[in-house]
Amino acid sequence: MKKEPKKDQIETRTVHAGEADAHWMDSITTPIVQSSSYIFRDSDHILSYISGQQDHFEYGRYGNPTVSIAIKKLVELENAEDGVLFDCGMSAVSTTILALLNQGDHLVITDDAYKKTLIFCEKVLGRFGIQSTVVKMGDYEQLEAAIRPETVIMFSESPTNPYLNIADFQRLKKIRDRYGILWAIDSTFGTPYNQRPLDWGADLVIHSATKYLSGHNDILAGVTLGKREITSRISDFLHTIGGILDPHAAYLLLRGLKTFAVRMERLNSNGMQIAQFLDRHPKIKRVYYPGLPNHRHHEIARRQMSGFGSVVTFEVDSNLKGTRALLDNLRIALIAPSFGGTETLITHPATVSYYNYPPEERRQLGIKDELVRFSAGIEHVDDLIEDLDTALKKV
Ligand SMILES: *Cc1c(COP(=O)(O)O)cnc(C)c1O
Repeated sequence: MKKEPKKDQIETRTVHAGEADAHWMDSITTPIVQSSSYIFRDSDHILSYISGQQDHFEYGRYGNPTVSIAIKKLVELENAEDGVLFDCGMSAVSTTILALLNQGDHLVITDDAYKKTLIFCEKVLGRFGIQSTVVKMGDYEQLEAAIRPETVIMFSESPTNPYLNIADFQRLKKIRDRYGILWAIDSTFGTPYNQRPLDWGADLVIHSATKYLSGHNDILAGVTLGKREITSRISDFLHTIGGILDPHAAYLLLRGLKTFAVRMERLNSNGMQIAQFLDRHPKIKRVYYPGLPNHRHHEIARRQMSGFGSVVTFEVDSNLKGTRALLDNLRIALIAPSFGGTETLITHPATVSYYNYPPEERRQLGIKDELVRFSAGIEHVDDLIEDLDTALKKV
């Protein structure tokens, strides 16, 4: 079974890429290698491994065959050289940053980022003598002005949560080249099906694989992908600090990835149709979806993305009570955080993520009472639209 040099389409790669040529015990699927450590035949075997003459697994924290194959598959999907898997997306974010920055170093991050990522940069890194500057998403002059001689990395998400703002990869690439810093993108909302930041010149791509990549709302996982020179430093650091992905979760990630492309096709289509439906609905004030021409970054999104995902954010033309009535009257959509899985989920940021914030501060952060984030699943779009339409009648 010789591999062709030709690069297959993503639908084919999701199924076959990374899978071991020597299928274990003739098994079609990659088994869950549930072992904490690995056997050497004799002392010569250990020597040949230690001296780098022979590959071998040694101890679970340093690697696992199921996890390795999941990494290889993700590497192929993202056009990376190598990658590191973590036990969740926040481990990917925090471990990547801690592996690459030292005391006295500086980081620039855009304000429209995952809340815990911002908390990590603003509240945690400072304790270790790493400074961070938060700049406004979309203000590239401010971003450039924030770069100092000690700046090691600029970090941005695209699309962002919950407004699905899009970072302009061409502009970020220019800044990266001008200052010779590292450029990392949290591409969780983008997915390698819809965008590949490494192809645009990014140094690192990070994902919460909890979302679209595993895609079944059943595991937490995270991944950082990029050039081997950088990912090997992250991987070495991971071996010291811990936070590795468990082989069971790696198996579920692999299993989820087999259908990644077909799920994405449906999710993109459901997302677009729901955005269009809501955009026309009289009880909806505003829809945020990068696939709609009225989105502030629609042109950038069209340039660098091939699809826009299943997350649709919108404002109900009502108050807190009316917005809650929408959530409470849905039949199919489940009220839960997260997105990108098979089940349709809906969240109300003002209640869930920002409950402890005073209403005034919430509004300042752009989290309005009537804001809702809808994450379409793979159900039939007619059912999802009917569900929304029925619930909106109760608003
Ligand atoms: C969910 C998420 C994370 C965190 O990932 P976990 O798997 O929950 O730890 C980071 N970034 C983005 C954009 C996310 O959506």
